[in-house]
Amino acid sequence: MALRALKPIRTMVVVLGDQLNDELATFDQFDSDQDVIVQMEVKEEATYIPQHKLRIAFFFAAMRHFRDEQTRKGRTVHYSEIGDPDNRQSIAAEVRRSINQLQPKTVLVTEPGDWRVKRALEGQGVTIVPDTSFLCSTKAFSAFLEEHPRPIMETFYRHMRRQTGYLMDRRGQPVGKQWNFDRDNRSSYSRNSPAIPKRRSFAPDDVTRKAIADVLRHFQGSPGTLASFDLPVTRDQALRTLRDFIGERLPSFGKYQDAIVEGEYLLFHSHLSGALNLHLLNAKEVLDASLDASSDVPLNSLEGFVRQILGWREFVRGIYWAKMPTYADENALEADLSMPRFYWTGATDMRCLAEAISHTIAHAYAHHIERLMVLGLYALLLGVRPYDVHRWHMSMFLDAIDWVSLPNTLGMSQHGDGGVIGTKPYVASGSYINRMSNHCGKCRYKPTQAIGDDACPFTTLYWDFLDRHRTRFSRNPRMQPQYRNLDRKSADEMRAIRHRANNLKARAI
Ligand SMILES: Cc1cc2nc3c(=O)[nH]c(=O)nc-3n(C[C@H](O)[C@H](O)[C@H](O)COP(=O)(O)OP(=O)(O)OC[C@H]3O[C@@H](n4cnc5c(N)ncnc54)[C@H](O)[C@@H]3O)c2cc1C
Ligand code: SF4
Repeated sequence: MALRALKPIRTMVVVLGDQLNDELATFDQFDSDQDVIVQMEVKEEATYIPQHKLRIAFFFAAMRHFRDEQTRKGRTVHYSEIGDPDNRQSIAAEVRRSINQLQPKTVLVTEPGDWRVKRALEGQGVTIVPDTSFLCSTKAFSAFLEEHPRPIMETFYRHMRRQTGYLMDRRGQPVGKQWNFDRDNRSSYSRNSPAIPKRRSFAPDDVTRKAIADVLRHFQGSPGTLASFDLPVTRDQALRTLRDFIGERLPSFGKYQDAIVEGEYLLFHSHLSGALNLHLLNAKEVLDASLDASSDVPLNSLEGFVRQILGWREFVRGIYWAKMPTYADENALEADLSMPRFYWTGATDMRCLAEAISHTIAHAYAHHIERLMVLGLYALLLGVRPYDVHRWHMSMFLDAIDWVSLPNTLGMSQHGDGGVIGTKPYVASGSYINRMSNHCGKCRYKPTQAIGDDACPFTTLYWDFLDRHRTRFSRNPRMQPQYRNLDRKSADEMRAIRHRANNLKARAI
């Protein structure tokens, strides 16, 4: 769309694809008579790492709906669609073009969720405004880090509970006299468990259909499928998703938080990460709504959910901004394999992995335990470069933004940061997956076997991982039971494990 300045413009508010909320601070002084909004769809953001078609369609559809909502409010929006001939196809170049044509006095943008984009915008004459949608500002997190130079999530979470008063009683104690109900949140799913509610489907309207058509035209070679699209792409739809979750899923969220079930990509998870990360919802309203329903929700579920948003989400963001840009290069375990090809296709005979990858290809989503204890675990045990795992994750997940994908993938899942996000690596054998899922019974491998043709590759690689990293981890008090079990293995068994592990690594590439 060609840009034309009809009258002097006071402020140009740049709204990036993951900033779709007009309550952000950039809108505080917005005056429709003098100010304009600028939005852009650019190829650079969808190709610097190849992106799942569904993820691109989700962003474009939500951005175009935001444009239309703002226009209905009487605001002027200058919007570059992906196919516009004038589109310079990068955020910085589009911002420069808009500034040249509109000549605004001031340009505001909310702090981007990606260090790379922030760097590209600095020096363009743009004022970067803090993102006010988080409960802990980057400034407050820095102050927390000064008091806790080696912070763990649990300490931060308790600090945030005290600061906000969420789930605290009048005497300043945690509700239920416990900070954490994790021990109640490890059930597998069985025939007697409650039925899993169906997620609400949002039929694409004309705007979304046009966004999908543009994605199929411009990003044919991108990974993933776009066979169906039913995601929430407006604030109203996001609020409905939130209400559905609280009414239907939240009561069982805690108990089955760690479960994995064949054919179920969502279970009792909220599916809110996409809407939260694009700012269709904010963390405070999600927490307030779930606490309003507290009388119908068991405390283990409520606390488990609050911990994800108030604890993990805020913690990983704080770590990202405190540690970038060097954080992206960290590789504490010196992992050097590339990402196995089957992560893009699901072509593997390991049933748990094939299923988790199929969820990712179909939905650009897999729930946390599939991400951590199946997809991430196998890459960690093999020894894949952590940044490559992050790149794959950024490609394939609709909720992946650098600030949240990098610490979760490179840090939590691959232990590439040497223990900043988690004090020990999340490693387990096939027996863990067997306990938490119903996959192993139908798999060609045996989860308890480490050697032989039928041995579960997770199990072989698990013992090999412990063995390879003995110097680093054997004195970690939280890993001593694992090392005691490793020490029971005979020298012959360990030789066979190492041999099979090397074959698996050679075949994985
Ligand atoms: C390897 C790996 C990569 C991940 N990458 C991302 C990512 O790119 N984007 C993303 O939003 N989350 C990421 N997570 C965290 C988490 O897996 C997803 O937030 C969650 O699966 C999203 O689904 P949901 O909305 O149904 O979450 P629920 O299980 O319903 O949790 C509720 C909300 O809590 C928040 N949350 C929970 N855990 C985390 C966490 N560890 N970090 C940040 N927020 C959290 C999310 O906003 C989520 O919507 C990753 C986790 C792992 C292990
Ligand atoms: S046996 Fe191993 S590979 Fe097969 S489903 Fe179980 S954990 Fe996965």
